[in-house]
Amino acid sequence: MKSKKDDKAEKWKRIGTKIIDDVFSDEISIFKPKFEVDYEAYLERLWSANPEIHAILKSAHDLESARDAMYTYLEKAERKIFDVNNDLHILEKATVREGIRVFKSIIGPINEYRTGVSALEILWKLAQNKREVTATEVSVGFLLEFINLFRSVIGKSNIYLENNEVKKHIPDFLKMEGEEASQVRSGILDDFGSTVKKYFKKFPSGLEEEVVSWRKENKEKILRYFGGDDEDWNDYKWQLRNVISDSKPLVELIELTNDQKISIEKAIKNKIPFGITPYYLSLMDSNISIGYDHAVRAQVIPPKEYVDTMSLHRKDRNILFDFMGEHDTSPADLITRRYPFIAILKPFNTCSQICIYCQRNWEIERVMDPKALASREKIEEALAWLDEHKSIGDVLVTGGDPMVMKDRQIQWILDALAEKKHIYRIRLGTRTPVVLPMRWTEAFLQLVSKYHEPPKREIAVVTHYEHSYEITPETLKTVQDIRNLGISVYNQVVYTIENSRRFELAKLRWDLKSIGVDPYYTFNMKGKEETKRYMVPIARILQERKEEARLLPGLDRTDEPVFNVPKLGKNHLRAWQDHRLVMILPNGSRVYEFHPWEKNITPIPPYNYIDVPIYEYLEELAARGENIRDYRTIWYYY
Ligand code: SF4
Repeated sequence: MKSKKDDKAEKWKRIGTKIIDDVFSDEISIFKPKFEVDYEAYLERLWSANPEIHAILKSAHDLESARDAMYTYLEKAERKIFDVNNDLHILEKATVREGIRVFKSIIGPINEYRTGVSALEILWKLAQNKREVTATEVSVGFLLEFINLFRSVIGKSNIYLENNEVKKHIPDFLKMEGEEASQVRSGILDDFGSTVKKYFKKFPSGLEEEVVSWRKENKEKILRYFGGDDEDWNDYKWQLRNVISDSKPLVELIELTNDQKISIEKAIKNKIPFGITPYYLSLMDSNISIGYDHAVRAQVIPPKEYVDTMSLHRKDRNILFDFMGEHDTSPADLITRRYPFIAILKPFNTCSQICIYCQRNWEIERVMDPKALASREKIEEALAWLDEHKSIGDVLVTGGDPMVMKDRQIQWILDALAEKKHIYRIRLGTRTPVVLPMRWTEAFLQLVSKYHEPPKREIAVVTHYEHSYEITPETLKTVQDIRNLGISVYNQVVYTIENSRRFELAKLRWDLKSIGVDPYYTFNMKGKEETKRYMVPIARILQERKEEARLLPGLDRTDEPVFNVPKLGKNHLRAWQDHRLVMILPNGSRVYEFHPWEKNITPIPPYNYIDVPIYEYLEELAARGENIRDYRTIWYYY
């Protein structure tokens, strides 16, 4: 007969393979999406991560005494950091301090009141073994957040002293001097460098010989299908005439999964904007097993839940999907304004292809919509509005994609803007260098260059590459042509599940710089219901900045990670004082309180944002074959 002790040992063995392994091991095969979790084992792991907290919560007879006792505990833990005699690793101390700050915030009554949730109450009930708190209400994602928080407040994140092997091999070069110290340090930096290069190999750019050669075949196949030749291919009007907006050419030209076929059919049937230029189609692998093109496909092939949500809300999408609150930041038709010196002018409401996670999917009706150009009267009114607001000096012309308008239409708008003495910069927001590089003909380049007159007025091109795989010889030529006019090209990337693997974004920065594009912003994807599956937790963007971007030279990591606060504008995620983690919801989502960029200048109330659970994000990465151990520090970014 098994003793109680044996039972316990058995249970711990299970915990060893369920919890430690699924989060911290190389053995990713067991970390599958929606795998059967041993909930009790996670719970045991929670309490063993910090037995003192468990004892406090267990002995508290009500929620308020649990709160008092927790604050006393956290304050004592904070004092301990400053003791002369403490055995915390110097870097762990910073983690402890951060963990305590976050923990105090989460158990604060004001944050419970604002979010309507009490994580402390959940923890207290779990400790009391009150069974009404069950696995169906409290996710493993919630437990893992607290397992890591419990560890952090006692300096047991183990980020720095994770195992003795690592510790043993850290050479104490700081105690050495001169050449010896330099050589040891240089050896460490060589290791960093070769590790990064190893990761880079996972993400080839479209400039690599092999990719160039199979894309040549793709191009020939597409030309045969449409009955065109090389000259047609390089003619952007031919590309626009042949934009793919139904499933037949796709099915015949590339391999699609069944789900992709069904979603495309449904999107077309329900008139959900959909379109791909033949050029962009040529960037897709003809065979899905190659798999380098995941980010390319994900941008234009709608996933099922996107199609379902968009179909359901065809009538109210104008309001429902306007996540940025543009309706409330538009002082005049075709104008959006969120900053003192910048205004957005949107004369053209369509694009050469449709991106799934477009911020303006609430107003773009269809690809290459013939009714997309605003009336002359409306554009003139918007231009007149700019005259009345002389503080605006930087105008972003966007849409849609205004660079798909006819040359003479663009010329008319640029002429009108150039007449305004207070406008010192015209930014052209366009994806054409990425999806239709042949748009930048010699004549068009000359047209645009006329308005670039430093120091009186600058023309800047702001584009949107998502992945190294989009960087091709064609786009290289276009960017070089633009830069040869003295015009800078900047990139705004959206950080999604498709480009957020270890060093994936670092590789994009590297490749962008190699063709002459400056990384400008990295956008955290906002909480739009229809594109939820693309979202990446804020903790990951912070982790990327610290552990990946930081390894690159400063000239490569010129982008700023930002969160766009609806109606207000960009909040810099590196400015830690401008956002706070205030709650963890039962599903494992973090709730952040974002302070607006103009805090300290003018009083504006904060904005609460519910993030995607870290656990769900890791599940998705694991399902894509990632080693979850690679991401283990993500829990310690707030
Ligand atoms: S090119 Fe820009 S505006 Fe057009 S669909 Fe894509 S993200 Fe939206």
